Amino acid sequence: MTGDKYTILKTVFGYTGFRRGQEEVIEAILAGRDVLAVMPTGAGKSLCYQIPALMLKGLTVVISPLISLMKDQVNALTSAGLKAAYLNSSLSSAEYTEVIHQAVEGTYTILYIAPERLLKADLRRITETRSIPLVVIDEAHCVSQWGHDFRPSYLQIAEFIGSFHQRPITAAFTATATLKVKEDILRALELREPFTITTGFDRENLYFEVQRPQDKFAALLQGLKTWKHKSGIVYCATRKTVEEVWQGLRDQGFAVTRYHAGLEDQERHENQDDFLYDRKTVMVATNAFGMGIDKSNVSFVIHYNMPKSIESYYQEAGRAGRDGEAADCILFYSGEDVWINQYLIKNTREEDEARIAHNLELLKAMTFYATGTECLRGRLRSYFGEQPPAYCGHCSNCHTQFEELDITLPAQKIISCVFRLKQRGRSFGKIMIIDILRGHKSEKIKAQGLDTLSTWGIMADMTVHRIRTILDYLIEKNYLVQEGREYPVVEASDTSGEIIFAKKRLTMMLPTEQTPQSLKSGERKREKRGKKQEPVKAGLESADEPDGSWTSYDNALFTNLKVLRNQFAEASKVPAYIIFTDASLRDMCRKRPINLTMFREVIGVGDVKNERYGPAFIALIREYTSQ
Ligand code: ADP
Ligand code: ZN
Repeated sequence: MTGDKYTILKTVFGYTGFRRGQEEVIEAILAGRDVLAVMPTGAGKSLCYQIPALMLKGLTVVISPLISLMKDQVNALTSAGLKAAYLNSSLSSAEYTEVIHQAVEGTYTILYIAPERLLKADLRRITETRSIPLVVIDEAHCVSQWGHDFRPSYLQIAEFIGSFHQRPITAAFTATATLKVKEDILRALELREPFTITTGFDRENLYFEVQRPQDKFAALLQGLKTWKHKSGIVYCATRKTVEEVWQGLRDQGFAVTRYHAGLEDQERHENQDDFLYDRKTVMVATNAFGMGIDKSNVSFVIHYNMPKSIESYYQEAGRAGRDGEAADCILFYSGEDVWINQYLIKNTREEDEARIAHNLELLKAMTFYATGTECLRGRLRSYFGEQPPAYCGHCSNCHTQFEELDITLPAQKIISCVFRLKQRGRSFGKIMIIDILRGHKSEKIKAQGLDTLSTWGIMADMTVHRIRTILDYLIEKNYLVQEGREYPVVEASDTSGEIIFAKKRLTMMLPTEQTPQSLKSGERKREKRGKKQEPVKAGLESADEPDGSWTSYDNALFTNLKVLRNQFAEASKVPAYIIFTDASLRDMCRKRPINLTMFREVIGVGDVKNERYGPAFIALIREYTSQ
């Protein structure tokens, strides 16, 4: 491949400019330096090594932990006219041998390899015959035992690199790295004075929100109404919840599919494809889904349960809006999620105490995100070591009015209730305690004589939601604890006495009550997006997506282009976004190219795509505009 990096960017990938960090990384590699690049999901890491791979002589090897990711990357490269392949366990032995053969023959520019294969003898045939100028380690945090996806086989990478006559340039990429993980990467991969870059973690097109719904499923339905036909992922903590939510949505007539480790391989595959190919718009899944899924048009990621760490959360939420379009990341918080996670962390087979303590710390930071009142984006960014402004204006906390309220009295009432129950030798979960405080007369309460407690009904004037928020806060601050084997019950802690006996004053930031948080965000978002809107041409506003797109485009044309894109995708058996991303289609709607020179200016159109797909798309656009 000839040409400088700008020419390749345009002619191969169809882009006109580099994104933050890309150019520096490419320069460093071309200058022969090792690299450690920490860039958020969707930032465009692939290009950082694919362009040098095209400029360096020989075969670039990319070590990647995920089969689906490799397949996707190879598809994307092939559709841009490049020669690439992968070696992993999804290949039959005949296919495997053929790829090795082709690699030895010098067919490929880039070869993706699963880490488990690195030290296999047949691989040596390639490394001994081909010149390998560059080895790339994707998802490099997998090398760290402190990261969230540790892969033992990643520890073999240094040995693999050490086995070459001439040491290749080594470039490591990851989206999530705290200082500890970064140090692990440097050490375990034996990077030599690498050029290190951490581009901002901020993803401006993502809107962050935390909700505390009474009824999560109802909140989910509410959200799906706003997103209508858009693609999105609903993450649940367990297989059981996945099943329930999936079933519920199916009953409501949504085009929904599911993914978790309990399904047969084949079904998992099919479901994943249904989602990737836009046959199903909503994916309900455990965290087993998504690593390596590059689907670009994911418009929302909902966490039905709170994940175990901010690293996991940001990685999963970050699967939204990879195409740069507006997207929503919403976390449904409930105190139970904290308890369940704590329980799982403490009851793993893991013996290592330090690891357990570490995991509990990670969970604490995540809980802090979910329950805090500060800017959510700010929280995420500062977690990853940045110094963001205190206000982003594009998250639910920035949109919510908080006021500092004295909660001394309600806290005393709640804790006394727990004490009174204790005196009767009883302990209950949150729901029951709230029912008692609110003065419910359920059968269960009457049967156990709990309506004779002095604390029965002493909080009848406060909403369930608010009592719950304060109760959660008391648990978070350790004035109460949640424990239990089968289900969580609330108990007094060492410091409960400070509140009821020492009469310690407590204050808490609470949302102003008349504007429930969960209802507000939608309106605010519209306001915010409205400002960003480009001038709208008369009659072109889409009925389908009233607030989703802040740049207007002709929706009917867009739909036609999508149909054409799908035909190409089906024909070559790749997901639609491999042919063109939604961002490319929208750009076509805006530019309305009617010849190849104009088509070439569309975002994401390089030489090969211009030639391969240009004529058909131009014909469609011409026909459409002449109507
Ligand atoms: P990640 O950093 O998560 O690996 P990718 O490499 O998959 O991100 O890139 C995300 C998306 O951004 C892809 O669709 C890619 O083609 C696109 N992209 C990458 N670099 C650029 C650029 N310079 N201009 C426009 N789009 C880009
Ligand atoms: Zn904010």
